Amino acid sequence: MHHRFIFIVGGVMSGVGKGTSSAALGLTLKARGFVVTAVKIDPYVNVDAGTMNPVEHGEVFVTIDGDETDQDIGNYERFLDENITSVNYMTTGRVYQSVIERERRGDYHGKCVEVVPRVPEEVIDRLEKAAKKAKADFVLVEIGGTVGEYENILFLEAIRMMKLKSPDDVRTVLVSYLPVPPSIGEMKTKPTQHAVREVNRIGINPEFLICRSEVALDAPRREKLSRFCGVHPSHIITAPNAKSIYEVPKLFDEQGFADSMVKSFRMKSRTTPDLSAWDSLVHTIEAVDRPVRIGVIGKYFSTGDFILSDAYLSVLEAIKHAAWSIGRKPVIEWLNSEAYEQDPSKLKELDAYDGVLVPGGFGSRGIEGKMAAITYVREHKIPYFGICYGMQCAVIEFARSVLGLTDAHTTEIAPKTKNPVIHLMNGQGKKLKGTGIGGTLRLGSYPCDLKAGSTSRESYGSDQISERHRHRYEFNNDYRQRLIDAGLVIAGTSPDDRLVEIIEVTDHPFFVGVQFHPEFQSRPLRPHPLFVSFLKAAAKGR
Ligand code: GLN
Repeated sequence: MHHRFIFIVGGVMSGVGKGTSSAALGLTLKARGFVVTAVKIDPYVNVDAGTMNPVEHGEVFVTIDGDETDQDIGNYERFLDENITSVNYMTTGRVYQSVIERERRGDYHGKCVEVVPRVPEEVIDRLEKAAKKAKADFVLVEIGGTVGEYENILFLEAIRMMKLKSPDDVRTVLVSYLPVPPSIGEMKTKPTQHAVREVNRIGINPEFLICRSEVALDAPRREKLSRFCGVHPSHIITAPNAKSIYEVPKLFDEQGFADSMVKSFRMKSRTTPDLSAWDSLVHTIEAVDRPVRIGVIGKYFSTGDFILSDAYLSVLEAIKHAAWSIGRKPVIEWLNSEAYEQDPSKLKELDAYDGVLVPGGFGSRGIEGKMAAITYVREHKIPYFGICYGMQCAVIEFARSVLGLTDAHTTEIAPKTKNPVIHLMNGQGKKLKGTGIGGTLRLGSYPCDLKAGSTSRESYGSDQISERHRHRYEFNNDYRQRLIDAGLVIAGTSPDDRLVEIIEVTDHPFFVGVQFHPEFQSRPLRPHPLFVSFLKAAAKGR
């Protein structure tokens, strides 16, 4: 099978939307009848994203086969509406690890193992594997970081080597940023010109430019970029700020981006694209005006003076998908649980929200504040959705407040507590000893049986589901019967009944805690059923 590779690299600065651009291009190619897959390259030495701080790196996105990857994999899944697996993610650490393992096995037959070509060869090998596995016509390959950085040079070298071998099968797209400095009031193309020079220096001339900016690119600047960067004017795509990322495919299509891409490979579209479902989503996003206010209580928000929400990207998107699906405008606010520890009277601010969500988390910072917030929303009947740590906190809170086990806790925070309602399963503790922290979590998709009559069973409309996990600690079965007797509903368990996956509280508009991460499976055109139920309860008002 013949695979074509489209590399997406960044210029000028990171964070301008390479991931969204790749995903949107992928969607528009898929709409033309092609099989498309997307690969993300993270230039860090980390073997996976599991050990990267989410404040710095953003969310850790978990694939069905249990890889801890970059949040862009989530963008690909949402846009392509397909599950992406581990072969589609690589880091510098992973690539070097394979090369070193090969060397130890003697695969290089006594040769000196040179960085070039061996490392780029390994990169190419992985790309070809991903292409083969997906039977892809097009493989989009996003290289993290920006050109000119020391870190991604070997990945750019892989492009050059691939291009040398089969020039007709490789294209490069540079996503650049064009600032409009307020003091000048004019869009500047020079940083982009420099970025293109930088890739040229490595021996690559990008065939396409995506120009990210506040406003659209005008004719004189398009001409200038074309002349100085050696890119055909029709291959220069303007990408001004959009109201939502889901508008980007349309924006690209209006400029014939996918068509020019297909043509540049001397191919023809296989079908007439139909993006009407996306059009109506975009229409809904613009039309909804009745707000539904959701408070998200977390801790990975601030960096210096700036608030970032990338650490919870999929949770955010899942809330939005569900809100749009019920015709509401999602208003999401970040709440800091530490504030509730310092001043419990602040808990009253929760009254202003239609629903409260506690997402996944680790460690002790702010946990007592989360617990206080959960007591508040449980007692004041404010819809509550707890995800992973948010479920574990809800169990602890229930054990403390309803069962009266005031010292109930998770052994993650209080290893010596007398009432470890959340703990490490038998054997898990031993397994973790001396292994370091990388790759020691329960990861990936597992089946879960739902209890008849529960909110979860009603929401999913099915008896068994499959959801993705990323955690170490578990509900402690020694407390299961007592918690049930006190009114806690065990709404989901592993098929062998060993692991509690969902808890619910009755006599409440919505109180559900899930041990897994439903946010990873929410898609813009197929919102997640539990998020939809949560949003519906929230939208009903109290
Ligand atoms: N810290 C908890 C655990 O390890 C929850 C993890 C999470 O929320 N992703 O089990």
